[in-house]
Amino acid sequence: MNTFTDRWRELDWHHITLAINSKRAHDVERALASARPTAEDMMALLSPAAAEYLEPMAQKAQRLTRQRFGNVVGLYVPLYLSNLCANDCTYCGFSMSNRIRRKTLDAREIVRECDALREMGFQHLLLVTGEHQSKVGMDYFREHLPAIRARFSSLHMEVQPLAQEEYAELKTLGLDGVLVYQETYHEATYARHHLRGNKQDFFWRLETPDRLGRAGIDKIGLGSLTGLSDSWRTDCFMVAEHLLWLQKRYWQSRYSVAFPRLRPCAGGVEPASIMDERQLVQAICAFRLLSPEVELTLSTRESPAFRDNVVPIAINNVSAFSKTQPGGYADNRTELEQFAPHDNRRPEQVAQALSQAGLQPVWKDWDSFLGRQI
Ligand code: SF4
Repeated sequence: MNTFTDRWRELDWHHITLAINSKRAHDVERALASARPTAEDMMALLSPAAAEYLEPMAQKAQRLTRQRFGNVVGLYVPLYLSNLCANDCTYCGFSMSNRIRRKTLDAREIVRECDALREMGFQHLLLVTGEHQSKVGMDYFREHLPAIRARFSSLHMEVQPLAQEEYAELKTLGLDGVLVYQETYHEATYARHHLRGNKQDFFWRLETPDRLGRAGIDKIGLGSLTGLSDSWRTDCFMVAEHLLWLQKRYWQSRYSVAFPRLRPCAGGVEPASIMDERQLVQAICAFRLLSPEVELTLSTRESPAFRDNVVPIAINNVSAFSKTQPGGYADNRTELEQFAPHDNRRPEQVAQALSQAGLQPVWKDWDSFLGRQI
């Protein structure tokens, strides 16, 4: 077996969905009692039967989180460099068929955005672009990454999937981590939501984390977009399988899992399955119980009240004051945005809420002298 595709081919969506839905109370209790839950246990933790066990799941998830990570919660912010995109995804405002104004930041505009973010205190940056290989591809990254990296202590990317050699090169320019969400692991559903462009290649995307692991990227972010497939439980289980596969093979890398749910956007679709807030908590706790060392992320897609209640349970990283349009921090316009965030509090308000919950907001936990040459 060389890539996760080999494992994915062994995983039958329909069979897994039935297995998850057939789990009973005793399966959940066994999973809760296990020091190291198996994939079968993960099915139980994600099952409808586990809804009755949310309180003990949350208590154990919180205990494991404090043991492994202490009270710290990292703050990061996305910087949208471009809304150009050569794909058509049914759920995204940047889709090429959407008639919106397109914008790619130049060097001067990038510096303005970086300065605005540094002013707010951010040190951890997530670079985001639409997927446009020719105009916002390796040449653009080569040109701009060094200047961005010089202003921040850690740099992650959420851009189009690249080749292994390209990730290796970006690592030498200061790239620390890459987030690449599969959106859904159900191939036919994936095809229905990705109508044009390179993103239609399900397997190129599915194997991206393998290429990241081989390129030695320090942190790899996984996730599915809840609402695309008709079973968030099965998609979450697939993410868990993906995580277990990667952790075994590319053990030098760290991993994070995020839980994005569909948000309103220009021309967007209605969710095919609804994950309510209790179910989102269930999924977060299930991942913590499965993997005490994985970092769990909660973005500003979720409401302030929900984030304040859930972050203390098991979350390691939160975004704050996110703008999902290029130029959003210096200009503060919303007409180019990818989707509408739900938590619009300023970073200092998010940090204050963390402190009030007994947590320690961390703006910086990494630097070049901590073992890395750039
Ligand atoms: S989800 Fe990504 S690839 Fe799809 S349209 Fe939006 S920016 Fe482009």
